[in-house]
Amino acid sequence: MSRPATTTDPRSALLGVYKPADPLFVRGDGASLVDSDGRRYLDFTSGIAVTALGHGHPRIREAVEGALDQGMVHTSNLYRTRPGEELAARLAELSGLDRVFFCNSGGEAVEGALKFARRWARTKGGSAKHGFVSLKGAFHGRLFGSLALTDRPEYQEPFQPLMPGVRFVDPEDPEALDGVDPQAVAALVAEPIQGEGGVRPLPEKVLRRLREWTQANDVLLVLDEIQCGLGRTGEFFAYQASGILPDILTLAKPLAGGLPMGAVVMTEEVAETIQPGDHGTTFGGGPLVSAVARAVVDTVAAPDFLEEVQEKGQLLHRLLQDLQSRHSGQVQELRGRGLMWGVELTGQAGPVVEKAREAGLLLVPAGKKVVRLLPPLTVTTHELERGVGIMGSSLA
Ligand SMILES: *Cc1c(COP(=O)(O)O)cnc(C)c1O
Repeated sequence: MSRPATTTDPRSALLGVYKPADPLFVRGDGASLVDSDGRRYLDFTSGIAVTALGHGHPRIREAVEGALDQGMVHTSNLYRTRPGEELAARLAELSGLDRVFFCNSGGEAVEGALKFARRWARTKGGSAKHGFVSLKGAFHGRLFGSLALTDRPEYQEPFQPLMPGVRFVDPEDPEALDGVDPQAVAALVAEPIQGEGGVRPLPEKVLRRLREWTQANDVLLVLDEIQCGLGRTGEFFAYQASGILPDILTLAKPLAGGLPMGAVVMTEEVAETIQPGDHGTTFGGGPLVSAVARAVVDTVAAPDFLEEVQEKGQLLHRLLQDLQSRHSGQVQELRGRGLMWGVELTGQAGPVVEKAREAGLLLVPAGKKVVRLLPPLTVTTHELERGVGIMGSSLA
């Protein structure tokens, strides 16, 4: 990775794990970001599915200000605070699950889920029942446990050895599960819609098959909705479209509207195997982030809001179908649901993302050939039309 040559470049003090693009953003406003030259960009990345209510939403501002007025940003989990307790109750109610552990990121939520699954499995099947099944194309994070479940050899190789005992199954061939020994498996982990892996929705039939296999074999089903959850698909949780319930659910990206927060939601059966001291977090579930998350969750869970996401999602799908028919040579396939879409190209995604940015639209690749659209859930129909229009000219 090349490093800026001069030490006067303010970027040179940042570790080079990212290569940020040139615009220097100084302000946000709804579905737009404004750079230091005053140029506006339509933000169809939402900071990678994070700013679901857009930039500068009044309810987020109100929640931050309300928490600051209390003068209490953090107390640790040694003491009770109301916002975290109330948020947990709300997430339990909305998910159909029972207990919540808060943390600070998606990777941490997955690590927590793996530990809770192992704790449950050990009481069920002893210490041999510790492995995990993940799916081909999966992305679950970059920490040592979550990286082991992430199907990207180039991310894994430099850091071997990772957590052992992970087996990958192709979601297009769920019968391969018949070759897995469930006595050695604590949990199967899956994204209802694979995000980083190229926006690949799991067919409902496959999701139900995963639920049946795990249920029949005393294996937990962990659904990772860090990217596709919290209203992104037009359902509050993506799994709700298929009528199943996971044993453990991981959440993060949009949960606190841009503040760092993750959550692991689980059934009572899993929760009752966890003892004080089995896991922990210094920051997780603090009063400020929890108050902001409560504002996000309540805003998104309103039936009118979700209905609008569905309608705007249908519009976005139609606009992308038009784009595909106008650029059939470059567009291979459209995949997605709600306001989460991947446009698979016949060529590379990078140059299209760059051209779109130059024309004032922010997009994010998902793998080498897929351009991903993750507009804020508050995006207007006019902004969707304008964004897809810019995308069309970037393909031309
Ligand atoms: C982004 C993502 C993660 C990791 O979240 P971080 O906050 O970056 O650690 C895990 N799972 C899924 C599905 C994700 O999209």
